Amino acid sequence: MALSDKYGRTIRDLRLSLTDRCNFRCFYCLPSGKPALARKETILTFEEIFKISRIFVSLGIEKIRLTGGEPLIRRDVPLLVEKLATLKPQLKDIALTTNGFDFPRYAEALRKAGLDRVTLSLDSLRRDRFEEITGVDALDRALAAIDAAKEHEFEPVKVNAVIVRGKNDDELADFARFARENAITMRFIEFMPLDSDQNWTREAMVSGAEMRDLISAEFPLALKETKRGTGTSWKYTFADGAPGEIGIIAPVTDMFCGQCSRVRLTADGQIRTCLFSVKEHDIRSLIRSDASDAEIAAFIESCVYQKEPSHNINAEKFVQPSRSMSFIGG
Ligand code: SAM
Ligand code: SF4
Repeated sequence: MALSDKYGRTIRDLRLSLTDRCNFRCFYCLPSGKPALARKETILTFEEIFKISRIFVSLGIEKIRLTGGEPLIRRDVPLLVEKLATLKPQLKDIALTTNGFDFPRYAEALRKAGLDRVTLSLDSLRRDRFEEITGVDALDRALAAIDAAKEHEFEPVKVNAVIVRGKNDDELADFARFARENAITMRFIEFMPLDSDQNWTREAMVSGAEMRDLISAEFPLALKETKRGTGTSWKYTFADGAPGEIGIIAPVTDMFCGQCSRVRLTADGQIRTCLFSVKEHDIRSLIRSDASDAEIAAFIESCVYQKEPSHNINAEKFVQPSRSMSFIGG
C-alpha cells in the first residue's frame, strides 16, 4: 500500500504539528506571536491524532515527525509517542523536532516510549545573540538538549540552524567547528518566506551554495552522497576525516519538490500537502463526524493526490501562506 500523488510521487512521511503555540519567538518564524492562535477546541486531541496517524500508516506512511510550534509544550508527549509506537513495524520511524528548551527532562521518557530520532534547533552559539534571535535567554538549555540527546543515544544527533544574512551568517564556521568537536550533524537551512510578520526578503536569505563555500573556506567539505534521495539535504563530511557532518537544506535556491515525500497535519486538523499550500483539507470535521475508517482513508488519498507539483517561491505570482511555519509545522 502506498499513497501517491498525480505526479507519481510516493508519500511516506507525515509531519504532525502538535501545537501552534511556542515558548520562543524566533524572528524568522513567530516574532510577535501573531497571527492569532487556533481556538483550543479546534486542536486535535492525542486520541484524534493517533486515529489519523493509524489510518495514514495503513495507507503506507513510514515516518512520523512530531513538530509544531513547540511540540514539548504539550503535556504528555511521551504518551502519544508510546501510542504511535504501537504502529511499528509498518511505521518505521518516529522523530521529533524541538527547540530543546524542555527536551532534557523528557529525553529518557521519550526514548523509552519509542522515539527513534530527534532534531534540535540552535541558531547561535553566542548567548546574547541566541536571545536576540529566539527572544529567550536559553542557549544553556539548547546546549543541554544536545547533551541529553547524546546521552540517550538519539544518534546521530541533528541540529538545525536557519542562516539569515546579518544575523548569524558569520557563525557558519563556528557551527562547523561545533559539529566536529561534538560529532553531530549540523544542518543549515535557507530562510524561507514562512515568518508570521512576512518580513522575508531574498537579500536576507543566504543560499545553500554560499553557506557551503563559507564553511569550506575554513573546513573543506567532501560531498557524502551524490544524490539527495527523498531527504532534503545535501550531506557533507569533513575532508580531513574529522567527526561530524554538515547538511545543507536549500528549498529556495535548489528546490527538491520533485522528490518530496511529505504530507502535513496542522494542530487544528488540516491536511497540508505542501509547506506553501494555499489550500488546506479539513480532516478534523471528518473525524469528529461518524465517518468510517474507510471514508477517512479515501479522504486522505484524495488530498494527497492533489499535492502541488512544487512551491512557487521563485515565481512572480508567489503568495506567502497566511499561516507561519510555527502553525504549519516545520
Ligand atoms: N519549535 C521546534 C523547533 O524550533 O525546532 C519545531 C518547530 S520549527 C517550526 C521547525 C523548524 O522550522 C526549525 O528548525 C526552524 O528553524 C525551522 N523554521 C522556522 N521558520 C523558518 C523559516 N522561515 N525558514 C526556514 N526554516 C524555518
Ligand atoms: Fe518556536 Fe520553533 Fe518557530 Fe522558533 S522555530 S518560534 S522555536 S516554532
